[in-house]
Amino acid sequence: MSLGPACAQRRALCLALAGVGLVAPDCAQALAAPPPPGARDLCPVCGMMVSKYPHWVATIVWKDGHSHHFDGPKDLFKALLNLGKFIPGHRSEDVAGVFVTEFYGLKRIDARKAWFVQGSDVLGPMGNELVPLASAEDAADFRKDHKGRQILHFDQVTPALIQSLDAAKP
Ligand SMILES: [Zn+2]
Repeated sequence: MSLGPACAQRRALCLALAGVGLVAPDCAQALAAPPPPGARDLCPVCGMMVSKYPHWVATIVWKDGHSHHFDGPKDLFKALLNLGKFIPGHRSEDVAGVFVTEFYGLKRIDARKAWFVQGSDVLGPMGNELVPLASAEDAADFRKDHKGRQILHFDQVTPALIQSLDAAKP
């Protein structure tokens, strides 16, 4: 989906201002609030309709303003770790923001600042998940309450871990 010409123009202005060291205050705002999935947007990894699973939506926003939505962090990571396969023509250098939906408040947060618990008893639309939490405290609480195996940062999620989530019986 597209953010429309006005937004793209504003993004271009933001980039221009950032180039001369002046960042408009609403630039951060634009990325702090990712667009919702369209009613018929399909997950690029599994093909499921993302809008059916609002508690699990994960989103990549690209620098040109368009975005892709996923029905859970696991599929988001699969795509990010193999863009050529799942979103051909897109490069990691062109990612403007990555967002996940945190478990307790259902707010959409910056995935790079989120905490992820794997191996818990909470299943997403695609089975075993990396459940996103907004803080270290939330992650510790969630891990305890839902028998989580491990708390991870964004950068610690690897293809091997994703494989192990898919292989484990939910
Ligand atoms: Zn999916």
